[in-house]
Amino acid sequence: MKYISTRGGGTPQSFEQVLLTGLAPDGGLYVPVELPSFSSEQIASWRDLSYVDLALEVISPFIGDALYPEELKRIITESYTDFGHPDVAPLITLRENEYLLELYHGPTLAFKDFALQVLGRLLDHVLTKNDQRVVILGATSGDTGSAALEGCRHSERVDIFILHPHHRVSEVQRRQMTTVPGENVFNLAVEGNFDDCQRIVKAAFSDQSFLPDDCQLVAVNSINWARILMQIVYYFAAALRLGAPDRQVSFSVPTGNFGDIYAGYLAKQMGLPVDQLVVATNQNDILHRFISNNDYSKTQLSKTYSPSMDILVSSNFERYLFDLFGRDSAQLTDFMLRSSKERLSVSESQWQAVKEIFDSASVSDETTCRVISETAAELDKLLDPHTAIGVESGRLTRKNPQVPMITLATAHPAKFSEAITVAGLDLPELPAHLADLFEREERYSVIANDLGEVSAFISAALGQQALMRP
Ligand SMILES: *Cc1c(COP(=O)(O)O)cnc(C)c1O
Repeated sequence: MKYISTRGGGTPQSFEQVLLTGLAPDGGLYVPVELPSFSSEQIASWRDLSYVDLALEVISPFIGDALYPEELKRIITESYTDFGHPDVAPLITLRENEYLLELYHGPTLAFKDFALQVLGRLLDHVLTKNDQRVVILGATSGDTGSAALEGCRHSERVDIFILHPHHRVSEVQRRQMTTVPGENVFNLAVEGNFDDCQRIVKAAFSDQSFLPDDCQLVAVNSINWARILMQIVYYFAAALRLGAPDRQVSFSVPTGNFGDIYAGYLAKQMGLPVDQLVVATNQNDILHRFISNNDYSKTQLSKTYSPSMDILVSSNFERYLFDLFGRDSAQLTDFMLRSSKERLSVSESQWQAVKEIFDSASVSDETTCRVISETAAELDKLLDPHTAIGVESGRLTRKNPQVPMITLATAHPAKFSEAITVAGLDLPELPAHLADLFEREERYSVIANDLGEVSAFISAALGQQALMRP
């Protein structure tokens, strides 16, 4: 399988090359040249597979001969053994024909573990094979950082630097990052906001001259193709459990950077009978305005109780637009460049095509808290705020009550206490493996909101690491 950039530059790349970079050199995102598609018979034959075996069926066509099948199997098996539930992604019933797909049983309690546990091991494997080292650099508003550190810390060929905005992540989120042990793990608390962190990371990627010669940066944010790939699997797992491919299912997905729901869109393109795909947003609703009104325009960022969805512009949306524009890179590039300056819309027929695939809703903080408290009272089930937005959006947009609506439960409620407290409920306990989180020793460096300071820090840390290696 080869991959091309949405912006049309460069030559087609292998899975390994795409894994080791993230963003394409022309600023675009990598997508497969062609999607595999599965017949109903093939999908039906996966009904009794374990999560790991199902994952191998779904992802193998994308990986091709980049790894031997037995190596891939070992990597996927190891990635999901630390999950706190035997089903890996358990499906539970809320109301009639309304389900939750719990994606928070991984080590850091958010769905990002599904991809980052695998990504860390894939990197380690490829780097060992090539006798190569890389530096992972990422910015986080919370969940990505801890999942990336957890997924990559075991790799001896990786040094990992995660920037988070100082004083602007929750205490649980900060401790999940700063208590990760390892000589190769560095947390930088930047005196700025999340956008500042992201700006520094982007600038570092575009000029990597501060790194030693034999070293390159790898992006682990949600634009990395391997992350999208691993998220396709649980759409198949959930649908199969509810009777697919003989039955249609719908999904409601709490959406920020559009990575998770884009994986659902791919599952549908690959043959999974998906009826509705609901883009669930909070007050930061650019995608909802686009889908419901053909209005693609940036507004001010609002801070909400669902911080992982507080995003102005969703980076993975570019991958969907590429398809919508008939894979015309020139049209896409023009749209992306103009979108930073003006209010955009697409043609009437394109907009109809969008609405055929996606529904959407925007849910306020107030409604989020109401849904959390009602669900606790009615079903004795505690939802995290992101998941509550998914559940409400599914209810608001549902077209056919006979088709099961599955909301992706993206985080454990213990991670996001603010909404739970406002909803008037007691905070749940952290799972056993994190019970002593507040006693563990933290390690992080506070650093100025400045590219020069950050690159000097990285370069000094890498120098010391090199001295310590035999
Ligand atoms: C990252 C995240 C999201 C958003 O997912 P995207 O793939 O960025 O759309 C939603 N909920 C939680 C809890 C997250 O951590």
